[in-house]
Amino acid sequence: MKAGIPKEIGPGERRIAVIPDSIKQIKAAGHEVLVEAGAGIGACVSDEALQAAGATLVANAADLWAQSEIILKIQPPLQNSALAKNETDLLNEGAALVCLLRPLGNLETVKALAARKILSFSMDMMPRTTRAQRMDALSSMGTVAGYKAVLLAAGALPRLFPMLVTAAGTIAPSRVLIVGVGVAGLQAIATARRLGAIVEAYDIRPAAKEEAESLGATFIGPTLDAKETQDAQGYAKALSPEKQREGLEKLHARIKMADAVITTARVPGLPAPKLIPSEWVAEMKPGSIIVDLAADMGGNCGLTQAGKDVVEHGVTIMGPVRLAATLPVHASQMYSKNIAAFFLHITKDGKLNLDWNDDITSGTCVTRDGRIVHAATRERIEGASPAAATGPAARS
Ligand code: NAD
Repeated sequence: MKAGIPKEIGPGERRIAVIPDSIKQIKAAGHEVLVEAGAGIGACVSDEALQAAGATLVANAADLWAQSEIILKIQPPLQNSALAKNETDLLNEGAALVCLLRPLGNLETVKALAARKILSFSMDMMPRTTRAQRMDALSSMGTVAGYKAVLLAAGALPRLFPMLVTAAGTIAPSRVLIVGVGVAGLQAIATARRLGAIVEAYDIRPAAKEEAESLGATFIGPTLDAKETQDAQGYAKALSPEKQREGLEKLHARIKMADAVITTARVPGLPAPKLIPSEWVAEMKPGSIIVDLAADMGGNCGLTQAGKDVVEHGVTIMGPVRLAATLPVHASQMYSKNIAAFFLHITKDGKLNLDWNDDITSGTCVTRDGRIVHAATRERIEGASPAAATGPAARS
């Protein structure tokens, strides 16, 4: 197959979907690899390095998309302002697409893909199984974002993170509270601990307690039953208002003590739970920082604005989006491993090899033969599931 890797577009995007090591792997499996010239620049991957790995450079986006049988990328199809066209319209009819499609949040794109008979796969719908672990791009990007969130907080905080004993006196360590202990939250705990902060962690899933404690955080979440807090895949479920309140009382008590709060709480397919109302922000210490990693899904804090830093009540609330793209070298390296493993999973002997009984192939497929095959997306498009207006968890 001819696999095409376009230059990613969109604000702040510096990653490339496939780096030279993975290009070699894809070539060795009998495929051709086309890359748009300059696609790697933001991630410090030169055109020469791409060519040396066996890729053919294509001078512009229109030709790259036109010549490719399958497109491997990170972002879902976006409007390409230089070409005045949506990337969906650049795809050859009947071609394949693999990206972080976030189908529940991109319903119009999904409809357009179905209309063009695109075979599309969404990397953010990878099953959370041991077999699929090496293709788990959400975990990769969550790891990078969790790390960077702590650095953002440390950079903006008007205090030191570690305890210091100096001739000029003793400096007390900063207190960091991590809300949501999934992949990003765990990485945030580890990073804040390495910087010497005292770390507390809050989540509703009982499994999160042990994981947070193993990294040196004190767990302050409620004691809830696994059945009412998480689904079969290990993702959080929306809580009943009573259960939510039970946990939030504990969170309210601790948030006033924190110097920095990193929030990462998400529920797949639904807007992010609002856990920190603006009244609580008013009670925080002046100079405190909130970094809201759920900003793209509406935010965990009532004052969060996606893509902006706002200062209210003396507290800075950061709502970074595409945080993983700010560390493009390693984010690209990790994503590339994930997407190359997936590509090799769905191909054999240089051709597509689709086993619809396989949970990885069927679980990630969104459109096929002109139909929307992802049930939740189809239901939402048909209006059967009005619960949420925005897309699924996707810390891209
Ligand atoms: P996520 O990004 O969907 O959510 C982040 C965290 O927010 C989760 O820990 C969740 O429990 C928490 N959260 C949701 N609603 C909340 C609320 N109301 N209050 C407080 N916290 C709330 O999570 P994730 O990083 O994708 O990880 C989810 C689970 O999947 C974890 O148990 C993780 O270890 C597991 N996982 C398993 C695999 C695998 O087996 N291959 C891979 C990745 C993750």
